[in-house]
Amino acid sequence: MPPAPILRVALPTPLRQLFDYRNPGHPMRPGMRVRVPFGRQRLVGVVMATAETTDVPAERLKAVLQPLDDRPVFDAGLLELLRWAAGYYHHPIGEVVAAALPKALRLGASVSAWEERWHITPAGRAAHLAGEPKRSPRRQALLAALLGTERTAAELREQLGESWRAATRPLAERGWIESAQVPCGPPPAQSGPPGRGPALNEEQRAATERIQASLGRFDAFVLQGVTGSGKTEVYLRVTEQALALGRGALVLVPEIGLTPQLVGRFRERFGVPLAVLHSGLTDPERLLAWRAAFTGHARVVLGTRSAVFAPVADLGVIIADEEHDASYKQHDGGFRYSARDLAVMRARGAAVPVVLGSATPALETLHNVAAGRYTRLALTRRAAEAAPPRIALIDLRAHAHTAGLSTPAAQAIERHLGAGGQALVFLNRRGYAPTLLCTACGWIAPCRDCDARLTVHLGARELRCHHCGAHAPLPERCPQCGFAVKPVGQGTERLEEALAQRFAGVPCVRLDRDVVRRRGDLEAAVQRVVSGEGRILVGTQMVTKGHDFPNVTLVVVLNADQGLFSTDFRAPERLAQTIVQVAGRAGRGTRPGEVLIQTEFPDHPLLTGLLGEGYEGFARTALAERQQAAWPPFTRLAAVRDSARTAEAALQFLTDARALAGGARGIRLLGPVPAAMAKRAGRFHAQLLLESPGRGGLHQFLEAWLPRLEELPSARRVRWALDVDPMELF
Ligand SMILES: [Zn+2]
Ligand SMILES: [Zn+2]
Repeated sequence: MPPAPILRVALPTPLRQLFDYRNPGHPMRPGMRVRVPFGRQRLVGVVMATAETTDVPAERLKAVLQPLDDRPVFDAGLLELLRWAAGYYHHPIGEVVAAALPKALRLGASVSAWEERWHITPAGRAAHLAGEPKRSPRRQALLAALLGTERTAAELREQLGESWRAATRPLAERGWIESAQVPCGPPPAQSGPPGRGPALNEEQRAATERIQASLGRFDAFVLQGVTGSGKTEVYLRVTEQALALGRGALVLVPEIGLTPQLVGRFRERFGVPLAVLHSGLTDPERLLAWRAAFTGHARVVLGTRSAVFAPVADLGVIIADEEHDASYKQHDGGFRYSARDLAVMRARGAAVPVVLGSATPALETLHNVAAGRYTRLALTRRAAEAAPPRIALIDLRAHAHTAGLSTPAAQAIERHLGAGGQALVFLNRRGYAPTLLCTACGWIAPCRDCDARLTVHLGARELRCHHCGAHAPLPERCPQCGFAVKPVGQGTERLEEALAQRFAGVPCVRLDRDVVRRRGDLEAAVQRVVSGEGRILVGTQMVTKGHDFPNVTLVVVLNADQGLFSTDFRAPERLAQTIVQVAGRAGRGTRPGEVLIQTEFPDHPLLTGLLGEGYEGFARTALAERQQAAWPPFTRLAAVRDSARTAEAALQFLTDARALAGGARGIRLLGPVPAAMAKRAGRFHAQLLLESPGRGGLHQFLEAWLPRLEELPSARRVRWALDVDPMELF
């Protein structure tokens, strides 16, 4: 087939279109990268389609400067996923495609991680001994160079000069030397022989077999397992089976830094190289990992959000662990996608099963189960015979408390420590205190650039803004009246101090983003608890992610009340998930655990429901409420968010956008409203929400409406973005 004359190229620009270029005769296929002229620049783009003709007039049609690949960087399945994502999230295709590639490849680096290696054959050896090839010192030198060892093309060029290649042909024709294309890069990490897993219990075996039976076709599974029930073992067995069938696996995790144990278990189990992709990699490291996946050198690809676009040779299964986790949703920048939802689409396109694992599946996911779209596989038993923890509420109004810790909770800690257990105290707020207050005049330390208070960090002697990163020295006196100021409220730093006073001599370990700053900090802190050196663990959300603390027998949730009365309809779901996840840390060994939740609202139906019926019961009630209030998953949402230098400009653009929407049928417009924290990092934020009973209507509307927003004069004074299926509302 002659090369297609026209290439339709996705370029990293905010324009919602492909760009046509003339193909000077390269054998190009969709998915290959090209360098092209674009205005005065040269850009790297990806060929999305080839064509025979174009609407671009011949005199304006430019030619491709250079093809960059000899095989597509995206296979047909990934290209289709990118097209679908650009359509579904209404984002320019060029930026979607760019988001799916490591930076080095966006700049034109070679994907080829192959090198040419030459070696001598036994016949060649014999010929050399016989003094062959006579009368050609150049060929003799080449043969001699290969006697000891095989050499790469680059090494031969270095040793023999540019003319070496001319000598290869006659020698290869006689069968004296041979060449091979070998993947380059670091040799695979020395992994021992594959490890063997523990025996499966009944439920694990049933789940594993059910998923394995679907290898080779699309099927969506929700693996709902309480913490400690052995979901990871199911992932490992399914992956093992896929590998045995000659297929690869893609494993998504919310945050790599927080799941070192999962990565470790995949490494130990399989004797195959693993490619690990996450945001902590340098650009060269990311390129290396991507190439390992692309070449099929790494059969298992493990990564965070953007790894959903990673190449996996002969993809056989996709697994998304902790599928409810909010970090699967990209919620800043332009292209805002859900890696969890894209994983399902990718699996569908590739005709492979997808496994969504969680102890607390998202309500959307449970709704898909109820609708028959996903199959639920339950793991209800905890490993090592551990009984489920006993959960109780502590009424904060009825008990005295010091630094937020009530007397009954302190007594429980004492009891568990006395019995040789460890205690975990959970507080989702880092720093010493969330507020610095002057009791004389009422001054509160504010952030100059945000509608937020500055958090006291006593150890660092600083005030810090947790929203924009601003910081200032900690004042001792009120800047307004000169009276002494005092920290009000609790953060993990203060809680640690209070526990050290209450339990003198008992070693305490803190786990939050102020303590865990570098690679290795987290493992070190976890190790201090696991080894038994630390007896009390104080931590934020970070403690809920995947670590095993087998000797923790008591969990205290210091304050459950944030989230009970939020304006965001998802807040109760997040609170329930956090409580269940943190409670799951208790009693994971053989000892039964105890969980105490401190609240000022012990009669709140969410808390009583959660205690009475667990996450199941909560989810049922919460879904019924969502249906009544017409929130997702019973309706579809999209949000247009903007920010500007003034509050007026931020609202003006959204007001104009709303006016353009006119009386669109079936679309309910909510807002515009300023964000709850309108001022952040010196800019004012606002939101316009769109709600529709169905996906089709919403997307049809967006398709027509968005291009008109781009032309609004008020759009020039704001930064704005569309968020389809937003996870956070204000
Ligand atoms: Zn004052
Ligand atoms: Zn700030």
